[in-house]
Amino acid sequence: MAADLILTNATVHTVDPARPRATTLAVEGGRVLALDDVEAGPDTEVRDLGGAFVMPGLVDVHNHHALAGRAALFELTFGGDHGFEAILDAVRAWSRDLGPDEWVVGGAWASTLVETLSKESARRALDEAAGGRPVMLSDDSRHNRWVSSRALELAGVTAATPDPAGGVIVRDPATGEPTGVLLEAAGIQVERALQEKRKLTVDQHAAASRHAIATLHSYGITAFQDAGVSVDILGALKSLDEAGELAAWVVTSLLINDPIFGFDPIGSALIEAGARYRTEHHRPDFVKIFLDGVPPTHTAAFLEPYLPDEAHGACFHGAPTMAPDELEGWLRAAAAAGLSAKIHCTGDAAVRATLDAVGKLRAGGDTTTKVQIAHGQFVHPDDLARFGALGVAADISPFLWVPGVIPSAIANVLPAERAARMQPNRALLDSGALVAGGSDWPVSESPNAFEGIQGLVTRQDPTGAHPGALWPEQAITLAEAVEAFTLSGARAMGVDDVTGSLTPGKSADFVILDRDPFDSPVEALYTTEVVETWFAGRRVFQR
Ligand SMILES: [Zn+2]
Repeated sequence: MAADLILTNATVHTVDPARPRATTLAVEGGRVLALDDVEAGPDTEVRDLGGAFVMPGLVDVHNHHALAGRAALFELTFGGDHGFEAILDAVRAWSRDLGPDEWVVGGAWASTLVETLSKESARRALDEAAGGRPVMLSDDSRHNRWVSSRALELAGVTAATPDPAGGVIVRDPATGEPTGVLLEAAGIQVERALQEKRKLTVDQHAAASRHAIATLHSYGITAFQDAGVSVDILGALKSLDEAGELAAWVVTSLLINDPIFGFDPIGSALIEAGARYRTEHHRPDFVKIFLDGVPPTHTAAFLEPYLPDEAHGACFHGAPTMAPDELEGWLRAAAAAGLSAKIHCTGDAAVRATLDAVGKLRAGGDTTTKVQIAHGQFVHPDDLARFGALGVAADISPFLWVPGVIPSAIANVLPAERAARMQPNRALLDSGALVAGGSDWPVSESPNAFEGIQGLVTRQDPTGAHPGALWPEQAITLAEAVEAFTLSGARAMGVDDVTGSLTPGKSADFVILDRDPFDSPVEALYTTEVVETWFAGRRVFQR
């Protein structure tokens, strides 16, 4: 069989243990035809790459692509470097073109601003900047919101409204009035009020997905798992694929519970609907369960207590969002529908509860349902070996735990020796666990996998902005980090049959880089640029 395309004189890093390196890559009919021993036919395009580095298309096991696309196209966006006044200026400028009762939606404010925003006077300033319009601005974790008086009014939140389960309406200590800062599930009512008013059209949802995927291509990503979807997002992916426009392997996660997004339907109804959206490149194969929240808001579930504080006392360690029976029930319901599970766990008690539930599932004879623990920063030493033994993959986002804003926020609520022991990746790999890399974009500012890869190797902030190294003994090698963002991600998502390595027969998904990462300074890996991205034998990005 003659190839359509042969790339010669390349450094091909295949991530296939059967043939780790090659100098030639041949593509035919959208698939990898062969490595090295290939012959060109009369119609073959042959390109000499001049030694350039080629590797499989990157795999992002955890992002929220549709939210990122929606924000980029339809919302006010500003960086975490914006202080209080700069945010107000941005809201003022954005509001100028809006109708009198149109929503201002945007983000993301730095979580370190929460004290500044938690005042009735701050909310009044936001009202003034937005000309009295409803405003909802998310923080950098996307778990918390800051909203205006009109937004509270439309959502029916007043001084008399009690805190909902899993959320806090932050009140001004002087007046008792809601400040507009809504932690975790407290923001859902406002999210729903917004969704009543702002209905994106089918075309707008598709445009958001398309925009996000173009951004992912510019970072070399050709396969990803969206970590929490609505029927609108499922519909967008289906319509894009049917129009021949979905140039990525996309796995989606159907929400079982929803502490932050405000999507409807979720749970059983969404499991039932999911299969209708399956297309060639879109696999709605996972459910997503939030088993706890995040440490800074005391919603993560730990085995040992948080640092004592006035609101929580000395013995508070948080609790999972559901009892063991309920979690097992959802895992069984997912498995019965042929679905795997991504389970958000940030505290070690949530991790243990997941492993216990999977243990029961496996004991019942289920060996095929895939389970990913998302984040899993804190793992009790006794539980490390259970990941590999039970076939539970670790979905890790180095973007979120290398020294920076989020680890500082965690260090404020946990004893120092525990805060310093996050993300035991070396130990997980050594005990046989599958470790897969994700960005959690747009929680991370970009989905640049090389930022994550550098963090996995150095345990330091790739940009150098935040000093220090987190538990350096848990560093993994560059080859292991590259595998985490390619083949291991594909295996964790269940798309390793088609992508994740340059293996003959798999989809020709690959990137050409501006350097050989294995022959470059590790402290500058995050500046690695993707020169070309190819999906299924077709170039989808060129710098
Ligand atoms: Zn996420």
